[in-house]
Amino acid sequence: MAKTGMDLLKKEVLEPGLCVACGGCVGLCPHISFFDGKVICTDSCDLDDGRCYSVCPIAHQTEKTSIDKEPVGKCISIYRSRAKDNRLREKSQYGGTVSALIIAALEEGLIDEAILTSNGNGTSPRGVIAKTAAEVIECSGSRYTSSAALEAFNKRIKEGSPRLGVVALPCQALSLALAKDSQKNSDQEIPEAELTVGLFCTWALKYRPFKGFLNKEDVTESLLRYDIPPPPAEVFQVFTGHKTREYPLTEIREFVQTGCAFCADLTAEFTDISVGVVEGMPDWNTLIVRKKKGKDLVDRAVAGGVLELEELPGENQDHLFEASLLKRKRGKENWDKKKQT
Ligand SMILES: Cc1cc2nc3c(=O)[nH]c(=O)nc-3n(C[C@H](O)[C@H](O)[C@H](O)COP(=O)(O)OP(=O)(O)OC[C@H]3O[C@@H](n4cnc5c(N)ncnc54)[C@H](O)[C@@H]3O)c2cc1C
Ligand code: SF4
Ligand code: SF4
Ligand code: SF4
Repeated sequence: MAKTGMDLLKKEVLEPGLCVACGGCVGLCPHISFFDGKVICTDSCDLDDGRCYSVCPIAHQTEKTSIDKEPVGKCISIYRSRAKDNRLREKSQYGGTVSALIIAALEEGLIDEAILTSNGNGTSPRGVIAKTAAEVIECSGSRYTSSAALEAFNKRIKEGSPRLGVVALPCQALSLALAKDSQKNSDQEIPEAELTVGLFCTWALKYRPFKGFLNKEDVTESLLRYDIPPPPAEVFQVFTGHKTREYPLTEIREFVQTGCAFCADLTAEFTDISVGVVEGMPDWNTLIVRKKKGKDLVDRAVAGGVLELEELPGENQDHLFEASLLKRKRGKENWDKKKQT
């Protein structure tokens, strides 16, 4: 019998342990759930509409990414940027660009709600809806474990399609792009985000084993954000409400999701705007403006005195391009090797 959507997803992604918990297949139907940091099939399904399989960024990684195109994908301009508000910057991961842009998009009426990632408050981070500046600030900072945040997007779309902004890792942005592609030839409504703000990403950790490690280290408080300071530090920092802990990066790498080795996108190419760090300048972000919608938002945020923009120094841009090309090459090579086994 032909394989169905869920069978293929299980065989190619879930059973080999390659799922990166983007959440693209969660919340579409009752058969797939996100529980304690892990995506699980709660029931069997023999429908062959294959929606869960067609939106999986791991199953379709190489179809949309190419090693020959522009170094960081489609791009109108690149800047260094930061939120003008010092208090917002203090709460944010780096320059607070993402939080400032989402607040601006809500306040300017460009989106009704934003899908962000919570800090989990002692459980796994997950997708949440933010409608106010306070709710956006509550989610600021990076959690280096996957959150299946697209579950919240899928559920919200089913409830009535408000105009949603989504802050997405590259795998999540790819899943949204695949969802759009898969609906093009059908009469169903296209589940499209009104605005996508991407985060640069090199890897994320498996929630359960990493949480087990922190428990052994007696870190039981709520985890606010994580960071990896630039080389030669080679440490992983965990920020809680009480203090900051540091662990050698070599100890943390064993918790990296297996599927991240096959990911070929560093800068979230399938978005309106992408944001990352500026190496050596932790108070700033690198900002890639990719599409007109992204440019309009950035222009409004600058005109409204919310965001500060400067030219990105040439050496930072060169390094970004190099890192992006390297990740594409490594992801593709790992896929090619896997296909041969
Ligand atoms: C897993 C992970 C890996 C990253 N790796 C890199 C990297 O290698 N190089 C680099 O330059 N930047 C990386 N980043 C991005 C970086 O950490 C910052 O998020 C980015 O620079 C924006 O900074 P900011 O001050 O504007 O963010 P803020 O204004 O603090 O906003 C951060 C936003 O990130 C969202 N978020 C937090 N955790 C997650 C998560 N797990 N999944 C999805 N969304 C989340 C929050 O909802 C919030 O809206 C990574 C981020 C994550 C989550
Ligand atoms: S109903 Fe559709 S999305 Fe859900 S498991 Fe079955 S094929 Fe996948
Ligand atoms: S990577 Fe995303 S779409 Fe694929 S199985 Fe995991 S959660 Fe589902
Ligand atoms: S490396 Fe790729 S697959 Fe892994 S969490 Fe980051 S964007 Fe997702």
